[in-house]
Amino acid sequence: MEIGLLEKFRNLIGDDGVITDGDLIAPHLKEWRDRYFGNTPFMLAPNSTAQVQEIVKFCGQNHLKLVSQGGNTGLVGGQIPMGEILLSLHRLNKIREINPLDDCIIAEAGVILENLQNAAAANNRRFPLTLASQGSATIGGLISTNAGGVHVRKFGMMRQLILGLEVVLPNGEIYSELSALRKDNTGYDLKQLFIGAEGTLGVITAASLKISARPKYSVVAMLGIENAQMAVECLHILEEQTAAITAFEIMNKQALQFGIKNLGARNPLSELHNFTALVEFEGAFADLPIKVEEALSKLLEDGKISDATIAQNDAQANSFWHLREGMSAAQKPEGRAAKHDVSVPISKIPVFLERAEAAAKNIVNGARIVAFGHISDGNIHYDVARPETMPDDEFQSFIKDINHAVNDVVVSLGGSISAEHGIGVARKDEFCVREPKPHLELMKTLKAAIDPQNMLNPRSLF
Ligand SMILES: Cc1cc2nc3c(=O)[nH]c(=O)nc-3n(C[C@H](O)[C@H](O)[C@H](O)COP(=O)(O)OP(=O)(O)OC[C@H]3O[C@@H](n4cnc5c(N)ncnc54)[C@H](O)[C@@H]3O)c2cc1C
Repeated sequence: MEIGLLEKFRNLIGDDGVITDGDLIAPHLKEWRDRYFGNTPFMLAPNSTAQVQEIVKFCGQNHLKLVSQGGNTGLVGGQIPMGEILLSLHRLNKIREINPLDDCIIAEAGVILENLQNAAAANNRRFPLTLASQGSATIGGLISTNAGGVHVRKFGMMRQLILGLEVVLPNGEIYSELSALRKDNTGYDLKQLFIGAEGTLGVITAASLKISARPKYSVVAMLGIENAQMAVECLHILEEQTAAITAFEIMNKQALQFGIKNLGARNPLSELHNFTALVEFEGAFADLPIKVEEALSKLLEDGKISDATIAQNDAQANSFWHLREGMSAAQKPEGRAAKHDVSVPISKIPVFLERAEAAAKNIVNGARIVAFGHISDGNIHYDVARPETMPDDEFQSFIKDINHAVNDVVVSLGGSISAEHGIGVARKDEFCVREPKPHLELMKTLKAAIDPQNMLNPRSLF
C-alpha cells in the first residue's frame, strides 16, 4: 500500500474517512451470498458530497479506480472491489428534507431504506419501495440497481419513485437536480442515465424521492393454488374485485419446503400446495377485509384456489412475510444453486416455469427447482438447487450450462435475463452475448463519453 497516497486522502477527507483496519474493511469485501470475495488497498468513507467530489477529482488526476458501495446487499457482485479503492457511501446518511405537501423527501445516498420509510411514516407519508434487504440496502444502491421488490405492480420500480438526483461525475463536476417537480420537460432527462447504471457513470450522493399517502387498512392473505396459470388468473380476478392489491408473491412447493425447514417457519395453510401465494391488499376504507373475504370465497367456490387464510393481526401478517422474505436465506443450507432473476410477460409465467424446469433437469436430473417472487410484475427468482446427494463441487460444473439454458427459455418468451438485480459482474457474459449489438455499442459510447478513464466500477456491465 502506498503510504503517500493514504496521507493525501487523509488530507482531503480527514483521518476518519480513510479506513485501513482489515477487520473494519472485511465485511465490505464479502458478498451476501458468499459468491464474491474481494480485496482493496483501503476504504474511503466520505461524509459529504464535497468529500466525494474531492476523492473523484483526485482519482481522476492520478488514474485510480473506485468501486462504490452502499449496503453491500447487491446480488451480482458489482459492489465488491477487486483491487480498486472501495468507496463506501455509508456516512452520507442524512435525510436533508421532508416536504409532505410536495410529497417529496430528499435523502443522501447512504440512508438505509428502512430509515427512509420510517422518516416518511413519521410525517404520515409512505415511501413504498419494499424489499427483504431493506434493513441494510441504501438509497444510492437502490437507485444504482433500479431496485424492484414487492410493490412494483402498484408503485413501480425505484426509477418511478425518483424526482431528482445529485451525482458526482467522473470529471469531478456535480450534476445536481434535487427537484420536487413531477413535470419537467426541459431537454434530456439526465437523471435517468444514472438510475440502474450500477455505479458506472457517477457516484450518487443524494436523491429527491416521491412519497405518498399511507394506507389506512391492510389485509394479508396466503392462498394455496395448484398451478401457475391459476395463480396468474387469481391475480387479475382479485385486482378486479378489490382494486386494492399491492403485492402478489408466489412460492413453489420446493421453495416453501425450504422455508419451513430452514427458517423454522410454520406453513400457514393446512397442507403444501404446488404454489402458495402471499397477497397484500391496502385501501382507505374500513370494508376492505369484507371485500377481500368475499373475493377469496368466490375463488374457492370457483375452484381457482384450494385454500386461503387471512392474517388476523400484525404478528401473523409478519410471519407470512417472514416466509416469503426469507427465501434467499432458506436456500443457503441447501448448497450450491444456479440462480436467475428473470422476467417474462405475466401471461408467459406458466410456460416459462414448465420449459425452464425441463431445460434445467435435462442438464442435471434431480435438480431441485426453487421458484418464487414477484408474479404480479412477471419477475421470478428461479433457482436450480443441486440434487440432495450431489456434492457442491460437482454441481458447480453445471451452473454455466443451466444459466444458459434457462436464459434461452427467458429470451424465447420475450423476457429479460435480469429483472431487478442488474448485471454487475455475475451476468456480464450472458448480457454481452444476448444484448443486441447496437444497444451494447450505445452503452459503451455513453460510458466512454462520461467516464473516459473507466474510473468508476470498471469491471461492471461490460
Ligand atoms: C435478502 C435479499 C433480498 C433482496 N430482495 C431484492 C428485491 O426484492 N428486489 C431488488 O431489486 N433487489 C433485491 N435485493 C438486492 C439488493 O438489495 C438491491 O440490489 C439493492 O438495491 C442494493 O442496495 P445496496 O445499498 O446494498 O447496494 P450495494 O450492494 O452496495 O451496491 C449495488 C450496486 O450499486 C452500486 N452503488 C451503490 N451505492 C452507489 C452510489 N451511491 N453511487 C453509485 N453507485 C452505487 C454498487 O457499486 C453496485 O454496483 C435483495 C438482496 C438481498 C440480500
